[in-house]
Amino acid sequence: MSSITGAMLIGAQSVRGQAGEMRAFAPALGQDIEPAFGLGNKADVARACELAAQAFDAFRAAPHETRAKLLEAIAERILAIGDELIERAHLESALPKARLEGERGRTVGQLRLFASLVRDGRWCGAVLDSALPERKPLPRSDLRAQRIGLGPVAVFGASNFPLAFSVAGGDTASALAAGCPVVVKAHLAHPGTSELVGRAIQQAVADVGLPEGVFSLIFGGGNETGEALVAHPAIKAVGFTGSRRGGLALAQIAAQRAEPIPVYAEMSSINPMLVLPAALAARGEALAQGFVDSLTMGVGQFCTNPGLVLAIDSPELDRFVTAASAALTHKPAQTMLTAGIASAYDEAVAQRKTQGVEQLAEGTASDAQCAALPLLFKASAEQFLAQHALSDEIFGPTSIVVACRDEAELLRVTEYLEGQLTATLQIDRDDYAMAARLLPVLERKAGRILANGFPTGVEVSYAMVHGGPFPATSDARTTSVGAMAIERFLRPVCYQDLPAELLPAALQDENPLALWRLRDGELVRK
Ligand code: NAP
Repeated sequence: MSSITGAMLIGAQSVRGQAGEMRAFAPALGQDIEPAFGLGNKADVARACELAAQAFDAFRAAPHETRAKLLEAIAERILAIGDELIERAHLESALPKARLEGERGRTVGQLRLFASLVRDGRWCGAVLDSALPERKPLPRSDLRAQRIGLGPVAVFGASNFPLAFSVAGGDTASALAAGCPVVVKAHLAHPGTSELVGRAIQQAVADVGLPEGVFSLIFGGGNETGEALVAHPAIKAVGFTGSRRGGLALAQIAAQRAEPIPVYAEMSSINPMLVLPAALAARGEALAQGFVDSLTMGVGQFCTNPGLVLAIDSPELDRFVTAASAALTHKPAQTMLTAGIASAYDEAVAQRKTQGVEQLAEGTASDAQCAALPLLFKASAEQFLAQHALSDEIFGPTSIVVACRDEAELLRVTEYLEGQLTATLQIDRDDYAMAARLLPVLERKAGRILANGFPTGVEVSYAMVHGGPFPATSDARTTSVGAMAIERFLRPVCYQDLPAELLPAALQDENPLALWRLRDGELVRK
């Protein structure tokens, strides 16, 4: 029997929303699935936010070990759900079970990475500057600084990763690691998956004895619930992955509050792949196959999907285009995450066909429901530069090959691009000089620069950057994947001449937490 009830989770309570009902939609079946979910209203949002505010001081004051244990307990509880989680996520998203099992592994690994980060303590950023009482003309005070959580964080689950970017995804894991309570607005593309994972977090909070307000999960219909969440005074930061329009709308609400707050929104990226001449000549066909595999993986529903190929016009580029077109024709139309995303794809590619670009190839039609047919287009650099709409992200398995006359034009097109999550260079040794001329531009444009790989697939590690200048994200200074994601939800506090008895543990002389600290300019563990 399913353990999904359709209730929201507000602190320790299960609360049936009274503002209407919705059922999850199984896109592959083209039908609704049980049970019905009760939708929340502004009062539910307010209750969750107030509980989060009440929990904040106790949560951040709890030992780091408790915080680490919370993250590990969430991981354990998610694994303990077992097959029901994978079955439900599969039904709600139409993503293959093997992919979802991998995503669950990544989600659990991410939670554990943040647990180890919390224990390590470097995130505290402890700094101690000794007093200089004899300094002339003025003595210097004793100055000590550490970083603390910003406060309750609103998280918007993403549709395209129902586990790794949703209720217990990177935003939630990094906010909890920073000591911030979390209120999640569930994505209605996978409400059952959201409830299952939400319950795992709710139980983990109780397991480790933390206040109930550390976590809540809200269901809402229409934009009002998300708007109310971002506008609530208790919320101090927002994590979001989704459309450019949605991210910008939430950023605007956050900026117009009496107390504006940061919004970390990951929105849109076309992830240019630059194929330089020597690589194109040496292995164009293999690159074409790899590119088409990356483009169509997960029905093109990755934020790092390669939606643009840039190369210099040549017979080698023609061979690449022929091979990519041939590879694409074998890729079937497949079910997308939601009916809305499928129709948005259809509309966007219909529009693209009117933009004067050449259609190179299309995939194999199928009778899958809510399906996206893979499509490949080609344009000249001149056309691309003349029509800004060609740079817009189309979420799904479509890409455009842009042929540049020469290196100067390739540089011009690269310079013209908006901010990106990734930029990929396909290069052999003879391309290094050209790559070196492109790199300064790519550094300004992208959060991650890859050589000789494909952008889909984002490692969760210490060095990963899944961010980038607008519109890839609303704040290019951070990442939403990897250990550095914790930075988004921290701020520094400096303590000047505070009596020893009142200093936080991270900054006490004896270093009771055994942290690495910058002590009078030197990094020491004492
Ligand atoms: P979305 O429409 O931006 O929705 C994401 C979340 O934000 C949902 O919970 C949605 O809830 C909320 N939201 C959106 N606009 C809002 C607003 N004005 N005020 C308050 N809340 C708002 O994204 P989606 O449903 O996942 O997919 C739609 C499109 O987003 C795709 O076709 C694709 O273009 C893009 N997308 C991009 C990425 C990426 O990684 N770059 C990932 C996924 C999707 P409500 O609608 O219930 O208010």
